Amino acid sequence: MLTSAPDLYAIGECPLYENSIYALVAPGYDMADAAIAHLGAETKTFTGADMSTKLKLIGVDVASFGDALGETPGSRAIVFQDNVKGTYKRINIDKRGKKLLGGILVGDVSQDKRLLQTTLRGMAIPPEPEDMILGNRKGGGNEGQGLMDLPDEALVCSCEGVTKGDICGAVTADGITDLGELKKCTKAGTGCGGCLPMEKDLLTETLKSQGKVVKKVLCEHFDYSRQELFDLIKVNDIKNFNQLIDSHGTGHGCEICKPAVASMMASIWNEMILKTHDTIQDTNDRFLANIQRGGTYSVVPRIPGGEITADKLITIGEVAKKYGLYCKITGGQRIDMFGAHVGDLPDIWEELINAGFESGHAYAKALRTVKSCVGSTWCRYGVQDSVSYAIRIEERYRGLRSPHKLKSAVSGCIRECAEARSKDFGIIATEKGWNLYICGNGGAKPAHAFLLAGDLDDETCIRYIDRFLMFYIKTADPLMRTSVWLSKLDGGEDYLRDVIVNDSLGIGAQLEKEMQFMVDTYSCEWKEVVNNPELRKRFSHFVNSDEKDEVVFQEVRGQKAPVAWEK
Ligand code: SF4
Repeated sequence: MLTSAPDLYAIGECPLYENSIYALVAPGYDMADAAIAHLGAETKTFTGADMSTKLKLIGVDVASFGDALGETPGSRAIVFQDNVKGTYKRINIDKRGKKLLGGILVGDVSQDKRLLQTTLRGMAIPPEPEDMILGNRKGGGNEGQGLMDLPDEALVCSCEGVTKGDICGAVTADGITDLGELKKCTKAGTGCGGCLPMEKDLLTETLKSQGKVVKKVLCEHFDYSRQELFDLIKVNDIKNFNQLIDSHGTGHGCEICKPAVASMMASIWNEMILKTHDTIQDTNDRFLANIQRGGTYSVVPRIPGGEITADKLITIGEVAKKYGLYCKITGGQRIDMFGAHVGDLPDIWEELINAGFESGHAYAKALRTVKSCVGSTWCRYGVQDSVSYAIRIEERYRGLRSPHKLKSAVSGCIRECAEARSKDFGIIATEKGWNLYICGNGGAKPAHAFLLAGDLDDETCIRYIDRFLMFYIKTADPLMRTSVWLSKLDGGEDYLRDVIVNDSLGIGAQLEKEMQFMVDTYSCEWKEVVNNPELRKRFSHFVNSDEKDEVVFQEVRGQKAPVAWEK
């Protein structure tokens, strides 16, 4: 990779090779090989590389492979687009319908490695090629397309050139049983890491084929499941990540275990997140605000039950005006303010807190909102005071950190105006009390909640919610919503009802006690930041200047918004 400057070599993104810049790991390695060979007076030339890749682009997974744009003469495209889920899949097949030439995946890239192998190896495709992206709708999976059906020469890790045969061989011949060892042994997954899910599946499948029990561990740094780690942290009084990894793990941790452990510690100890776990949190948690398009942050104060006074509305309006924030009423019955510079966040929150607001935890995997309808306070059909009950519930569980975000709602009668059955826990008033529904959600994969128990009085309903939430927090995997957690519980709804209502495991009182601890130790994170000069200092764009980051806005419907991305 000798450049036009004498004695200067360049690899990776530095050289312009035949009018192309290769910004991928694998071509970078090939270039390094060529450069080293040349230094040693050998002849090895870089002649271009396969540009198939998988990237995470601002929250969206994108993959392309082979002839992604269908430029091969006679190629035909099969396109699937789901605007609800935000996925787009395109495969290009040859004119005879026998070979896969390439394609593009957006939103869901889980099939990329298999499709890449099918392309690279010229493997036969199913009689109905759309099955490769849609799945075999007649049942039975994608015949011939299963992971273990790939030939041994199939390239799994293109960064390090590791094949399926290398991986399965290491598991079989070297007795490897965990992903960390496998990475060390084969080097697969040590480059961009895009092949790790496939490598993990190959490890699991190979072990299964040997009749070995596959242990579900959090990641390569901990030989424990989330549930086991949760208990270890609690029983051993472990208060930080380093203590945990020193005593029960290996290495330095990763993007899987660090946020998961931070979430568990927050759920167990309920300590101020910036004082104890900030270095292992996601970005949103570190700034106690959601980072938005354009690099500014949103401010979302809690509005329990969606009830707000005129004075508080005026405060929100005044703060938004003073700091130039865009306002939007959310589906969770509160008001989002967008476009805040990170350095303004403590001042904005100081004004909101002085007016009686507190953090809405919109940035956290925690309880978000408890929606309510006006219930018997105003509605002629209302049979219970849904607003008071929603406020009581929101104030009880505010700030509760959990494996995923939590949403709730309370409806004042069977007409269900608060949409409680699409929530993680929802309550619907009856003549005699409350019906409690659990494990529902909206979002990309909507799920209806199921009826856990009916006609409950106020206290019993809250007791069951305490048990349900603590049981979920203790046993669910990271980033697992309540509906998915339920789908994986042996015994499903009946089992969960037995645990929560009939206390079949005898842990009801313990779960309630643990929840009461969380309730008693709650404090508003933003209030702590506002009153702590050291914490306030963290909210700045630059460590050596008070200047603000430059953000360009445009006017949209009478308010400001970030400028649109170029098409
Ligand atoms: S759910 Fe019932 S009480 Fe609530 S607003 Fe609708 S009709 Fe009225």
